[in-house]
Amino acid sequence: MQTIEKNLLYFLDNKPYINITNACSNSCVFCIREQKQDVQGANLWLDKDEISTQEVISQIEQNKEKIETSSEIVFCGYGEPLIKLDEVIEVSKYLKQNFPNLKIRINTNGHANAIFKKNIVPELKGLVDYISISLNAQNEEMYNKISRPKIKNAYEEVKRFIRACVEEKIDTTASVVYNVPDYDIDVERCQVIAKSLGAKFRARDFIPNGY
Ligand code: SF4
Repeated sequence: MQTIEKNLLYFLDNKPYINITNACSNSCVFCIREQKQDVQGANLWLDKDEISTQEVISQIEQNKEKIETSSEIVFCGYGEPLIKLDEVIEVSKYLKQNFPNLKIRINTNGHANAIFKKNIVPELKGLVDYISISLNAQNEEMYNKISRPKIKNAYEEVKRFIRACVEEKIDTTASVVYNVPDYDIDVERCQVIAKSLGAKFRARDFIPNGY
């Protein structure tokens, strides 16, 4: 496993991921960062949170050949990528210009519109090909238990964000993690909610201690 200084970019099964921040407005009980210091050998703890777009681009350029053979790159690491909205947009523009065949995915907790107090989804249009949003639960009570959000009305905000992405015609998937010990996630109910919001649905089994 190649290790990269500051790990703004890492690879899982040869697929590139961008780790743009360690900040998050959730504290999910199943979060990988609660369990491990690394993801397949890449330490994703950043030594500072004020990273520049140029730092991310420079790590991408150092791995240009490997990225050129990939079909997709994902904003996903030890934090919520859209907290760094400006950097995500700038890096995505760079990727679209320099790797036109590469699809861009963002894995997000869906809090961005609440955090920025405006609809940021139109800013992603044309840059982000796929967005995966953590619905995480069938109702607010369970969401608050399993995701432990730091913002108000988080569950409603997540559902609104899912709908905003669908309305912008971004390929949108609502996701849940099930089989987390002590948390009774109603996967079928979550699927119905995702469908009612117009999104695709993905449920993934909880994997203790890692990917
Ligand atoms: S939203 Fe993602 S990064 Fe944030 S705590 Fe949950 S799993 Fe971890």
